[in-house]
Amino acid sequence: MTNKISKIAVLTSGGDAPGMNAAIRSVVRTCAYHNVECIGVYRGYQGMIENDFKEMGPRSVKDIINKGGTVLKSARSKEFMTVEGRKQAYENLKNQGVQALVVIGGDGSFTGAEIFNKEFGIPVMGIPGTIDNDIYGTSHTLGYDTALNTVVEAIDKIRDTASSHNRLFFVEVMGRDAGHIALNTGIGAGAEEILIPEEDLGLERLLDSLKRSKESGKSSSIVVVAEGDKIGKNVFELKEYVEENMPEYDVRVSVLGHMQRGGSPSCFDRVLASRLGVKAVESILEGKTNYMVGLLNDKVCLTPLEQAIKGSSEIDKELLRVSDIMTI
Ligand code: ATP
Repeated sequence: MTNKISKIAVLTSGGDAPGMNAAIRSVVRTCAYHNVECIGVYRGYQGMIENDFKEMGPRSVKDIINKGGTVLKSARSKEFMTVEGRKQAYENLKNQGVQALVVIGGDGSFTGAEIFNKEFGIPVMGIPGTIDNDIYGTSHTLGYDTALNTVVEAIDKIRDTASSHNRLFFVEVMGRDAGHIALNTGIGAGAEEILIPEEDLGLERLLDSLKRSKESGKSSSIVVVAEGDKIGKNVFELKEYVEENMPEYDVRVSVLGHMQRGGSPSCFDRVLASRLGVKAVESILEGKTNYMVGLLNDKVCLTPLEQAIKGSSEIDKELLRVSDIMTI
C-alpha cells in the first residue's frame, strides 16, 4: 500500500442516518490500523469552516456502533456553498495537517466534496449515509435497512388497530424522490396498495383496488404512501378523496415522520458501515480520490462520485408485480 497520507478527517453531513456512528468508528479504527492520524469534524462542512475538530483514536469511538444519529453531529452548511466558505474550510484543514477527507452523507454532501476536491486538490471519499437509499452505485445506503425495520414494526402496530376497527389506514413514509422505503415496507407489512414517486397508480386504480379488497372479504386495509408519491396528493388529501368516493370506509392517516431516521442500527447497517469505512480509508491510502464506496452484489466497490451524484437508483419493478400478486 502506497501510504503518503498521514492524516485523514471524517465528517457526517446532510440528514442523519442510523449506521453513521458505525461508519465513523470504522474510519477511525482503520486509520489507527494503518498508523494514520484521524480527526473528526463536528457539524459537517460547517464545522470545517468553524474549526470544529477533534482528534480521534480507536478508544474515542467505543460504545457508538449501536447508537443511532451521529456523534459528530450533522448540519447543512450554506457557507460551504460559497467559494469563500470552502476556502476557509481548506485553510483550516491545512492548518490541522489534514491530507484527505471522508464524507459520510447523501448526494448533496458528495457534490460539495467533489467541488472541494476540484478547487483544492484534497483527496475525498464518500460513504453513502441516508435512509432513502436513493444513491446510484450501491444497493444499500447506510440507515436504509434500519429504516425498513422501523417502518415495518410501526405498520404492524397500525395493522392491529386497523383490523380491530375495520379501518383503512394511509401510512406516509419518507421518500420524496424515491419509493424504496414505501415499496419494500409495503410488501413486508402486507399493504393493500403502495404509492411511490416512480409509478403513477392513479386515483381510479386506487379506488378499484380498495373496492376489490372489500369485495374479497378484507375488513381493513393499509396503503403505504411515499412522501413524494406520483399521484401528487398528500395522505390527508387521499383520505378526503377516498372518504368522498367510498363513504363505507372509515379512513385514518398516520404520518411516521422523523422516527424513521432514528434508532439503533440493524446488524446489516453495522456490518455495512464497518465494511465501507475500511474500504474508504484503504482506497485513500492507495491514492484514490473522488469515489464513493458502496455495495453491489454483496461486494464492496467504488463508483466515481460524479456518477453516484448524477445516476439514479432505480426501484426494482419486479417488486411492484410481487405486491400486486400478494394483494389478490
Ligand atoms: P440527504 O440525502 O439526507 O438530504 P445530502 O448530503 O444530500 O443528504 P444536502 O443538504 O443536499 O444533504 O447537502 C449537505 C451539505 O452539502 C449542504 O448543506 C452543503 O453544505 C453541501 N453541499 C450540497 N450541495 C453543494 C454544492 N453544490 N456546493 C457545495 N456544497 C454543497
